Amino acid sequence: MTATPTVTARVDNALLIARCPYCQGEHTHGRGTGHVVADCLTPDSGSGYVVIDPDPR
Ligand SMILES: [Zn+2]
Repeated sequence: MTATPTVTARVDNALLIARCPYCQGEHTHGRGTGHVVADCLTPDSGSGYVVIDPDPR
């Protein structure tokens, strides 16, 4: 079992933009730090990653 990657996102309006550790593309997520599923759904992205909200409310 591999460790879940952690990505620090940037805030764009009310959303988080995260640089995906699997496809290197940018994915959009709702605000808040937590575990998300990678939108690209590559064979390697099954466990998703933890996205960090840089400005938690
Ligand atoms: Zn991706």
